[in-house]
Amino acid sequence: MTRLDSVIRRLTAQRDLLNWATEELGPDGLVLELGLGNGRTYDHLRTKLPGREIYAFERSPAAHPDCYPPEGYLIVGDIFETLPAFIERFGRGSAALIHTDIGTGDQEANRKLALRLSPLLEALLRPGGLLIADRAFELPSCEDISSQTDVPEGRYFVYRRN
Ligand code: SAM
Repeated sequence: MTRLDSVIRRLTAQRDLLNWATEELGPDGLVLELGLGNGRTYDHLRTKLPGREIYAFERSPAAHPDCYPPEGYLIVGDIFETLPAFIERFGRGSAALIHTDIGTGDQEANRKLALRLSPLLEALLRPGGLLIADRAFELPSCEDISSQTDVPEGRYFVYRRN
């Protein structure tokens, strides 16, 4: 498999899971995009979920100009500083869907990041809430339901909060 094949497979899994999640989602709860990046997945979410409150988090905003959230919905800064403040503001269990796409090619750094991020994600997700993630997380209060989707094992990950 070439690197091009690998990117295409990852992005296909990402899009398929975001589509799946937007259909699973109930009417209540915030949607959070961790890592606005180019704004591609944010654009997908806002198109699939018109009218939904979607907050995007990014430490170095540089998205496509058409893909910025409306005023007040882009939270700028390192998520390890902005997420605790967000939880204070909106309360625990305020999110129905979180998509996280903030990893790098450094697997050890990704593992540490996932460990550090896990308690924040568990605090944010409401019961039944979904986490769609570019990497595996260890979340004691969530069930790994990746195998219940059509996405091939290990390509992208889905967790549901108990
Ligand atoms: N899903 C995005 C898209 O479709 O365009 C791509 C996201 S990109 C792979 C990851 C983004 O996460 C980068 O823009 C990076 O700046 C941001 N990021 C990484 N670590 C972060 C952190 N600790 N706090 C805030 N943003 C972070």
